[in-house]
Amino acid sequence: MEISLRNQVAIVTGASSGIGTGIAKSLASSGATVIVNHSSERSLNDAKTIVREIIDAGGKGITYQCDVSKEDQVVKMFQDVVAEFGTVDILINNAGIQKDAKFTEMTLDQWNAVIGVNLTGQFLCAREAIKEFLRRGIDPSRSVACGKIIHVSSVHEVIPWAGHANYAASKGAIRMLMQTLAQEYGADKIRVNSICPGAIQTPINTNAWNTQEAMNSLLALIPYNRIGQPQDIGNLAVFLASDASDYITGASIFIDGGMTTFES
Ligand code: NAD
Repeated sequence: MEISLRNQVAIVTGASSGIGTGIAKSLASSGATVIVNHSSERSLNDAKTIVREIIDAGGKGITYQCDVSKEDQVVKMFQDVVAEFGTVDILINNAGIQKDAKFTEMTLDQWNAVIGVNLTGQFLCAREAIKEFLRRGIDPSRSVACGKIIHVSSVHEVIPWAGHANYAASKGAIRMLMQTLAQEYGADKIRVNSICPGAIQTPINTNAWNTQEAMNSLLALIPYNRIGQPQDIGNLAVFLASDASDYITGASIFIDGGMTTFES
């Protein structure tokens, strides 16, 4: 089966760096029109560069600034995208942050910041996406899903992570959000899944593996013996967004070089 996302409109949150960029470029190269969401003025130049690279490669995309933890901004983003492109077919709920602290030293601000982006942000975007999928309805000429949501979760939705309670709690909650939405909207032909990355080379963990010793300890946890790249996640996102995965919903797909095999 040919995998094509032609005529599909995709919003990728937090797409101005890392995994979001990898996903945005992969979706665009498969034919989707991609909204490269970024959070603030500071990330505008990065987002513009990515859109330029997408267009230079023959794809379609625009930048869109929106803080996904802010309800009014998320509602406006979906309204603006529907006004410009007619609809939204794919939501990639990718934006995420870390504010690490030993639990007894974790401030309420650190807790709220991570839950606000990683969980509330995914709730707000999923809600607006599903409203749009329902407004547009099922295409009677096609038997496949009319809307697809892909949450970017983490292996830490099932593996506890000392020193990162806020982050692990946000990812564990995404699992239940994703499964509940898959149940609630399956009959409306909306598919909802999660990608659960292991260790992927991106800015979020620049400082985590900056010594050979740290890298060796990490590689010891990865049977496939390499760090993942944003492109690895992009490839999976294209599959999950495409008709080739039409019977997959409610699934957390681990993409981690085998890291989670140590958990079973
Ligand atoms: P990253 O820091 O490069 O990307 C996160 C992106 O989210 C950034 O572009 C940032 O600007 C954006 N963002 C932050 N707050 C935002 C907000 N309020 N509104 C909109 N955008 C916002 O890191 P990454 O590794 O690419 O992370 C992407 C996702 O992958 C995150 O959800 C992260 O938890 C998840 N993840 C990453 C890894 C890894 O090893 N890199 C592993 C598992 C899961």
